[in-house]
Amino acid sequence: MIENMAVIREILNKNGVCYIENADMSLYSTMRTGGSAVLMIFPKNTAELYAVCKIIKNYCRDFYIIGSASNTLFKDGIIELPIISFKNGFKYIDFDVNNNYYTVKAGAGVLLSKMLNFSLKNNLEGLEFAYGIPGTVGGAVKMNAGSKESNIENIISSLDIITKYGEKFNFKKEQLKFSYRNLKITDFDEDNYFITGVEFLLKSSTKSNIAEKMDLFKSRKMTQPLGKRSLGCIFKNPEGHFAGKIIDDIGLKGSTKGGAAVSEKHANFIINKGNAKSSDILDLIKEISETALREKNIRLDTEIKII
Ligand SMILES: Cc1cc2nc3c(=O)[nH]c(=O)nc-3n(C[C@H](O)[C@H](O)[C@H](O)COP(=O)(O)OP(=O)(O)OC[C@H]3O[C@@H](n4cnc5c(N)ncnc54)[C@H](O)[C@@H]3O)c2cc1C
Repeated sequence: MIENMAVIREILNKNGVCYIENADMSLYSTMRTGGSAVLMIFPKNTAELYAVCKIIKNYCRDFYIIGSASNTLFKDGIIELPIISFKNGFKYIDFDVNNNYYTVKAGAGVLLSKMLNFSLKNNLEGLEFAYGIPGTVGGAVKMNAGSKESNIENIISSLDIITKYGEKFNFKKEQLKFSYRNLKITDFDEDNYFITGVEFLLKSSTKSNIAEKMDLFKSRKMTQPLGKRSLGCIFKNPEGHFAGKIIDDIGLKGSTKGGAAVSEKHANFIINKGNAKSSDILDLIKEISETALREKNIRLDTEIKII
């Protein structure tokens, strides 16, 4: 809920911060569905983010942060939460060499694909698992993105954040509690904070070594409907199971609702066939969860964020 839009506009204009009112969220999520956000703000740097914090602290009860929204489904209709997007800023990549290791510092808005290209160009090992994962560095860290072989937690060395109160913190790896598609910070109560920068520790390697490691992840991606509009895996894999296999077993692979379909290529992906609404995707999610519980007694939790 946003209060006092006139004052918010004044603060944003005075600080030169870009924003859109009534933003069509289908243009931002990789699923290409979703309603209209009352306010979407695009801070480019720390100074602009401080202006955003002032607005949030005084005029908004809650907010939602996005990078590429490649793991976020926006519901249809009006979205009252202000959306803070890292799409247009925090794009730096700096690095430092120390023996065989490179400390690479990246802004939260850097695309994971850019990070991967950077590491390939500089013969740095560790990011191969990011092949084919869309999204930003900030989103990848918050989601602990990766695969069963490796996740972002394995290469991170520290994290810079700014809270909604405008306080800046740096957390070392030991303070970060990563789990399956999740990050918590030890002894830190806030969960909704802005990741502004991330420090990675990457190892010096050879092109052939990196290419060999990346081949595994490349071949894995061939099993996913990569050219289609999606959010990646919809459900988390329950302990000891694969969500895709469960969906296949309960006979819902290929099933459709409106313009959305469970992918024939990978049953844990729901794809937008072109004219899907978010409600179609939510209907499929509901059907899958209820059927898995009824027929297999397995609870499927969503990996994606629904806003
Ligand atoms: C085709 C496809 C394939 C995929 N394959 C994989 C895969 O193999 N492995 C995998 O793990 N994921 C995969 N994904 C999911 C997704 O790409 C990852 O979760 C990605 O890391 C999300 O990044 P994002 O910037 O898009 O995050 P968003 O969807 O924008 O946000 C995700 C979460 O991070 C938070 N967030 C984003 N930016 C910030 C920030 N700067 N500060 C604080 N919080 C922030 C959001 O609030 C939200 O909670 C895939 C998605 C697609 C579409």
